[in-house]
Amino acid sequence: MEKENSKIWVDGRFINWKDANVHILTHAIHYGSSVFEGCRCYKTQKGPAIFRLKSHIDRLYDSAKIYRMEIPYTKKQFCTIIVDTVKINGFKECYIRPVVFRGYGAMGVNPLNNPLVCAIACWEWGAYFGEEATQKGVSVCVSSWRRAAPDTFPSLAKAGGNYLNSQLIKMEALRYGFDEGIALDTQGYVSEASGGNIFIVKSGVIFTPPTSSSILAGITRHTVFILARELGIRIEQHMIPREALYIADEVFFTGTAVEVTPVSSIDNINIKSSIKGSITEKVQAAYLDYVGGNVEDKHNWLTYVE
Ligand code: PMP
Repeated sequence: MEKENSKIWVDGRFINWKDANVHILTHAIHYGSSVFEGCRCYKTQKGPAIFRLKSHIDRLYDSAKIYRMEIPYTKKQFCTIIVDTVKINGFKECYIRPVVFRGYGAMGVNPLNNPLVCAIACWEWGAYFGEEATQKGVSVCVSSWRRAAPDTFPSLAKAGGNYLNSQLIKMEALRYGFDEGIALDTQGYVSEASGGNIFIVKSGVIFTPPTSSSILAGITRHTVFILARELGIRIEQHMIPREALYIADEVFFTGTAVEVTPVSSIDNINIKSSIKGSITEKVQAAYLDYVGGNVEDKHNWLTYVE
């Protein structure tokens, strides 16, 4: 279905895509005051299933709490509305974007006098970097832009404003001909990509930066922790110096949109595995098998829509 024909849920009502508009003086437009999620619904043999919906809702409510937004629905209600939004649109497979933002009201930085708006949109969205990248990997650079220091923008909140930094990283990478950029944290350790977490593989062990390296605590990242352990692969959180990227055996990104995407080169230096390393391959296959419902849902991560 064309996304323009779909319905968007806004504060209790399903409305047509083209009617889901806001006033120019909406607080979030001027001051970045929104929190959001990105979830994926996958086609499975038992019908469409949303992957880790509960974890996404938990993080949405955490992000809202950090910014003192009181969402006027219980988490259970919010989950039900998300399922209904996918159902009403008839998607077999889609990306889902719940967003909560400070709406139209008072102008000025203080957000507390502006009404909160909650909305959920969904649309069909294939591989983030394209199908080929899932096999051959992406070419990336280390960005000259750093992630924000922990006492500036809290990275554990998935807030609209944080993505201004992501946009600078992404635009710089594209301008220099790369697919994506990796940001360091303010201490110079590896943090994450503009829209995903990073993992490196060295001598059979997977490493990823800890939450203290200004990362978003990715739900795919957490999923990879569990799947890697089930595959018998050691996985650890460590602060990662920049040069460890260049000498890694394998590097990959994770995220709801990017799923598990191999990295083939960094700053035009080829990663040893060059295309897709064997551990990346195993983790990616385990991830896609799980989200596609091809294996037993032993962690209760799938929410069936029908
Ligand atoms: N970091 C950033 C900056 C992101 O935008 C995302 C995507 N939401 C992630 C990490 C990965 O998070 P998740 O696996 O929960 O999608």
